[in-house]
Amino acid sequence: MTNLDFSLIFLLLLATQFSIKLYLAQRQIRHVLRHRHQVPLPFRERISLENHQRAADYTAAKVSLGMVDLLVQSIWLVMLTAGGLLSSLQSLLASAWLLLFPDDLPGPGLDFQISLIMLVILLGSIIDIPFSLWRQFVIDQRFGFNRMTLGLWFSDQIKGLAISVILGIPFLVLVLWMMQQTGQHWWLWVWATWMIFQLAVMVIWPTWIAPLFNRFEPLQEGEVRTAVESLLNRCGFSSQGLFVMDGSKRSAHGNAYFTGMGQSKRIVFFDTLLAQLSSREIEAVLAHELGHFKHRHILKRIVLSAVFSFFALALLAWVMNQAWFYRGLGLIPLPGSQASAALLLFSLVIPVFLFPIQPLMSWWSRKHEFEADAYAASQTQAADLESALIKLIKDNAATLTPDPIHSAIYDSHPPASIRIARLQALSERLGSAVGLANGKTPQAASTR
Ligand SMILES: [Zn+2]
Repeated sequence: MTNLDFSLIFLLLLATQFSIKLYLAQRQIRHVLRHRHQVPLPFRERISLENHQRAADYTAAKVSLGMVDLLVQSIWLVMLTAGGLLSSLQSLLASAWLLLFPDDLPGPGLDFQISLIMLVILLGSIIDIPFSLWRQFVIDQRFGFNRMTLGLWFSDQIKGLAISVILGIPFLVLVLWMMQQTGQHWWLWVWATWMIFQLAVMVIWPTWIAPLFNRFEPLQEGEVRTAVESLLNRCGFSSQGLFVMDGSKRSAHGNAYFTGMGQSKRIVFFDTLLAQLSSREIEAVLAHELGHFKHRHILKRIVLSAVFSFFALALLAWVMNQAWFYRGLGLIPLPGSQASAALLLFSLVIPVFLFPIQPLMSWWSRKHEFEADAYAASQTQAADLESALIKLIKDNAATLTPDPIHSAIYDSHPPASIRIARLQALSERLGSAVGLANGKTPQAASTR
């Protein structure tokens, strides 16, 4: 392949992806605004027109900002590669290096290579700052979701930076060292290290990292705890590690999640979720999360990511030895710094090549959501999950009328109307059986 070929392929793919994303964003905004004047029939009794319109405006505002973000990210990527910015940054850093360390040749040293990668990451993060600020302090503020102060935002950024430096730099040093020192099968070593690193982060995240950002307190004794513990016993889970997180510190959005592995495994409820839902609704939401566990969704994700990174690293090992890869993306590595240049280019451009699998990943995720919902409906009352979902939709101002194509490509969760219709069908089918099995009255499941 000639150099021109590859840079053309890359730019064409980038332009195609950009146009498709822009088209989808416009579809989403148009569709949501077109359905703004009327609450969809199944929700008419439970969601007010005011709430529905607020959700439409919130969605449109977020998607519009996303379009500007997409434009800036795409321009940045073109500037770095075809625009020759990476190459200029490399020369600039090399000149500075020679001034600062006259005895150290820029290129072969890991310190130089890491500095170039960090410089590019840093510049990319600076470009993200205005978008992050706008999302939080303009859009979320306008719709009443923001609970953050600028001081907290700033301290979050500093902590995030510190964590990526403390965890990321040693890992990067190790990877580059392996790429240069372990022979042609380096990518197998890097793959194994990457797997161990990811699992280690999963283990230390809940106990070491998450507490740097939020306070976690054990779930207090009371109605909710009793309901949750009885559900966990029924489903065969240990009830250790039930925590409440002060999510209200940053946002009014409510959530609950499972985190960690083995001993560090915990269930975390946002305080905002506990404030919004009844104990039976919380039980249903938790049953949905347990459904993900019972169906081994998390394990399946880890396996998929292992398979995926195996092939990605094999591909990196191959393109690393192709001259067209560097020339086509506008960065000729300094002697001895091929590994870092390849890694940098690869991580910058791979998302463009992966966009075609986005719909598949979203579809897979939605399939898991349906499975988790079905599990929740079999262990608790489907009607409780349904009313919990409606409260969450209202409180998160999620749109009830997403564009079907936009949703099929991006949404990790099925649209509310489809999800609720399925739950209603399930509750009709399971209603009596589950009601009897749990010793509850079947009527609760068929109130709607
Ligand atoms: Zn889920």
